[in-house]
Amino acid sequence: MSEPPDALDPVGLCARCAHARQIHHPHGGAAYWRCGVSDADPKYPKYPRLPVVTCAGFEQSRSGPDSDYGSAESRDT
Ligand code: SF4
Repeated sequence: MSEPPDALDPVGLCARCAHARQIHHPHGGAAYWRCGVSDADPKYPKYPRLPVVTCAGFEQSRSGPDSDYGSAESRDT
């Protein structure tokens, strides 16, 4: 018996996307993900519902997502 896909990959494409930024909760807890494409294109959600399994804006990241350790600017923009 296999696991459901979201249990194996709870983030999906955003984890490998050049436009994604991982936001760490300042008090611990689960990180969330911000979509950089949403700044220019309102069709994309700022905080995508995970896992993202298909996305026209996906672009493979060479180094993994940017990481932001909970700055107010990243959370509020
Ligand atoms: S473009 Fe798609 S895959 Fe990339 S961060 Fe935005 S929602 Fe995630």
